[in-house]
Amino acid sequence: MRLEKESYARIIENLHDGLYFVDKNRVILYWNKAAEQISGFLASEVVGKSCSDNIITHVDSEGNSLCNGMCPLAASISDGVSREAEVYMHHKDGHRIPVSVRVSTLTDEDGNVIGGIELFADISNQRTNELRVKELEKLALLDNLTQLANRNYIDREIKIKFEERKRFNLPFGVLFIDIDHFKKFNDQYGHVLGDDVLKFVANTFVANARPFDLYGRWGGEEFIGIIPNITDGDLENLGNRMRNLVKKSYIIHNNKKLQVTVSVGATIAMENDTLESLMKRVDKLLYQSKAAGRDCLTMG
Ligand code: GH3
Ligand code: MG
Ligand code: MG
Repeated sequence: MRLEKESYARIIENLHDGLYFVDKNRVILYWNKAAEQISGFLASEVVGKSCSDNIITHVDSEGNSLCNGMCPLAASISDGVSREAEVYMHHKDGHRIPVSVRVSTLTDEDGNVIGGIELFADISNQRTNELRVKELEKLALLDNLTQLANRNYIDREIKIKFEERKRFNLPFGVLFIDIDHFKKFNDQYGHVLGDDVLKFVANTFVANARPFDLYGRWGGEEFIGIIPNITDGDLENLGNRMRNLVKKSYIIHNNKKLQVTVSVGATIAMENDTLESLMKRVDKLLYQSKAAGRDCLTMG
């Protein structure tokens, strides 16, 4: 069987995975439908632009930019070797999404490298979250702006976690996360952009959460993560990963990248803790992060 050129085009266009081609200078030549769905960018917005042009801007789990030579696609174009990696890509709404990427070179009929291909799959738990949002909506436990669990739900959930800790000896930790200098941000750019930032910070947590972790909005620009089954070392790593992903998230306003950082308090629930004592401790830890200069995590 020989497929027509049009059939190949249709198959590629309708792949479940995101797919794009770039030329040797990493200018985007093609962007399929799944790439539009996963990234939020339409083909018409990205074709002809360079992939480092505030579009894809992959970072690793420490938040290091991969655009300066360490990007898997650039590496493949330069040495001709295919690669696989897990990285975080920029969504048009600002947040970071975890994707697994496979890259290889694009060659002409004579075998000369003329560009690269990247195939990427969304590996976030977006689907789990959609179900949770529906459930929370029904129970009036949803924060309307961010689509996260609201404070009532967090209260209930922490109480349940204490019960599970007692009965089944299941440990859990909490992250208390507060946006740095958010008042200044609102004053400078207005409340509407402030709201957009709250949304991308919330989306960053949701897209990068493990399936049983729960993130909610405690109030204002404060968020809580409830993290079951975790050791203090892992909680610290997870909190720092989220902190770095927020730092590397951005929205574009008047051709300018708008970014924020967060400070974090992190602690594991102890045997004699109550909701009040746990929140008091984690609030103090957050305060220590603020006092230490912000954009950091304090574990205690
Ligand atoms: P710090 O680094 O010490 O946390 O400073 P901060 O400015 O972030 O803290 P502060 O508590 O002084 O200010 C929080 C600001 O968050 C004040 C308020 O205007 C803003 N805020 C609270 N809720 C919302 C909201 O729903 N939307 C917007 N846009 N801003 C909000
Ligand atoms: Mg605050
Ligand atoms: Mg704040």
